[in-house]
Amino acid sequence: MSVRTRADLDQLPAYVAGRTVPGSIKLASNEVSEGPLPSAVAAINQAATEVHRYPDMGVGRLTEALAAHYRVEPERIAVGCGSVALCEQLVQATCTAADEVIFPWRSFEAYPIITQVVGAKQVRVPLTGEHALDLEAMLAAITPATRLMFVCTPNNPTGTLLRKAELDAFLDRVPEDVLVVLDEAYFEFVSDPDAPDGVEIARERSNVASMRTFSKAYGLAGLRVGYAIAPPEVAAALRKVIIPFSVNALAQVAAIASLEAQDELRKRCANVVAERERVHRELLALGYEVPETQANFVWLPLGDRTADFNEHCLQNRVVVRAFVGEGARVTIGQPEENDAFLAAARSFTRVA
Ligand SMILES: *Cc1c(COP(=O)(O)O)cnc(C)c1O
Repeated sequence: MSVRTRADLDQLPAYVAGRTVPGSIKLASNEVSEGPLPSAVAAINQAATEVHRYPDMGVGRLTEALAAHYRVEPERIAVGCGSVALCEQLVQATCTAADEVIFPWRSFEAYPIITQVVGAKQVRVPLTGEHALDLEAMLAAITPATRLMFVCTPNNPTGTLLRKAELDAFLDRVPEDVLVVLDEAYFEFVSDPDAPDGVEIARERSNVASMRTFSKAYGLAGLRVGYAIAPPEVAAALRKVIIPFSVNALAQVAAIASLEAQDELRKRCANVVAERERVHRELLALGYEVPETQANFVWLPLGDRTADFNEHCLQNRVVVRAFVGEGARVTIGQPEENDAFLAAARSFTRVA
């Protein structure tokens, strides 16, 4: 006899993390290679001697800091162990086995995993030919069993952005008892003036939550802290299903310090945007198809050539994130890292 785990876990897709190859440049996980903001490092150092104490379970000071930063009531905020944990908590809070979760595909690879782990049904809606979310098709996928929709903008891994007008028109047509989760993990890198602001939308609509994270622009991926800004009832449900103490003490102080360093944040995001535009332009000049991107990465829909491209980049000491048969996602790094990637992309076109 051995222990009996759920039979359906055999079908669970594995989350494939971006690889770290010693001696190579890692452009595989959408991290900011500049590192954490200096003031966050100082806060972590200071708090290190206190880690024998449990963290603040209610995440009080960080919640207050977020409430002040966004000018929303603290009741509308829930903090989690990364925004991916909050995504799972939202499925837990809204769905049982009979219920459905709609998400675009290809999109963030955690969506199918968390939906299946919770036990709800998943409905994947293919992207448009331009690698963007297909809002019409997502609306058409809604049934009476739909409880939750993930709307990832900019979309990971394609980088495409929804504009405010199209998102508003979409939200007007979603039934009010379906929760729409705007996954805005890359919000700080968005430079398009017509971009929606999920926090504003979540304040105005009773069925919309905005999810953001300190992992990407703020450079705190290793600490695991993200947050939702949502209608008070949704935020309360999120707080109910959280694993106690899962937002650790160092994450809490580092996030507060990071929020206070908006000037530094703006500067680094502007650098990323400038490099993103340069890399995008040069890839187009090399003859690659590259969709518009508003995140800190570019998407190369290489189809069957993806595995070869991945191998070629690895040989040139650049680690990208390959989705075999579909495409490669490449994070924007420091200028010299991007140069190394562009050199690999250039020599690949000669090989291919
Ligand atoms: C990186 C990412 C997240 C989550 O990150 P956490 O580290 O869990 O906060 C969420 N959604 C998308 C689309 C992402 O790419």
